[in-house]
Amino acid sequence: MTVLLPTSTAGSLPKPSWLAEPEKLWSPWKLEAQALSKGKQDALRISIHEQQQAGVDIVSDGEQTRQHFVTTFIEHLSGVDFENKQTLRIRDRYEASVPTVVGLVSRQQPVFVEDAKFLRKQTDKPIKWALPGPMTMIDTLFDDHYHSREKLAWEFAKILNQEAKELVAAGVDIIQFDEPAFNVFFDDVNEWGIKCLERAIEGLECETAVHICYGYGIKANTDWKKTLGSEWRQYEEVFPKLQQSNIDIISLECHNSRVPIELLSLIRGKKVMVGAIDVATDSIETPEEVADTLRSALKYVDADMLYPCTNCGMAPLSRDVARKKLNALSEGAAIVRNEIEHERAEKLEYAITEEVAAV
Ligand code: ZN
Repeated sequence: MTVLLPTSTAGSLPKPSWLAEPEKLWSPWKLEAQALSKGKQDALRISIHEQQQAGVDIVSDGEQTRQHFVTTFIEHLSGVDFENKQTLRIRDRYEASVPTVVGLVSRQQPVFVEDAKFLRKQTDKPIKWALPGPMTMIDTLFDDHYHSREKLAWEFAKILNQEAKELVAAGVDIIQFDEPAFNVFFDDVNEWGIKCLERAIEGLECETAVHICYGYGIKANTDWKKTLGSEWRQYEEVFPKLQQSNIDIISLECHNSRVPIELLSLIRGKKVMVGAIDVATDSIETPEEVADTLRSALKYVDADMLYPCTNCGMAPLSRDVARKKLNALSEGAAIVRNEIEHERAEKLEYAITEEVAAV
């Protein structure tokens, strides 16, 4: 990235109310067939326009063509029976009725590649594309075939790698894997979760990111957060191994959360997408609040490695709130960018003065 502190979002953005019911996760589509595919394309156009207007540097599809960040991908795979549902605890947090893995999982055709090609035509800005991570995928399914979380995750990693390679060929600049499950199943993450993630990014000729958060601002997540105590040290469990991994960028929740910011020192050397926008509240951050979060992250992350971002996706928020939050993100990033540039110019001036004095 040539811009200092390039801004982006974690992933999803609100959909227009004519496409899907607003302020809701898993919102059903309001259109059908041909009208739905055209509607999704129009929503992509609007989303990219709004991101660019808000000054977002690395844009995305805002997940306008998906109902859900995990399920929509799985719906396109074979080996999973969506009729046959079982009740399961998701991320050890809430019960949900989930589809069943009934045979070998495979990807018969590309899932998001056409959407990515369409998006590529709409903008010259770098594009980030989010895919679910292997561990988060297995956590939303009942496995009646592999009978091994690790084996199923490995199969998904191979499938994700195929999709990711085609997304890169379609012009995507950063592939991001969403792994909120990394914040829950620490032993599995360290034993095989990160290995599966590395399988998913194998041979990708683009930058790669992993997004690890405390979830959307929905009740199940906010209730869970209340049980986590005064300091959220979950990242501490997986950062040391992630720091050693091949992943380029780590996307994290930082603003308004109880994550001790010094945990960022555990991933030194990685690029960090710092969540500076809280997605669990409608109140709009001031640019100065955003700047404060970024400044505290700068104590542990080099300025050239810091990417201001949102804590998580904003799909459940109203469009108006999401837009204002994106503006705050850009304005907050601009404040800190100016400070860094000013500081660098001063240092340069000082160095030149010293050199002249020495002659
Ligand atoms: Zn998230």
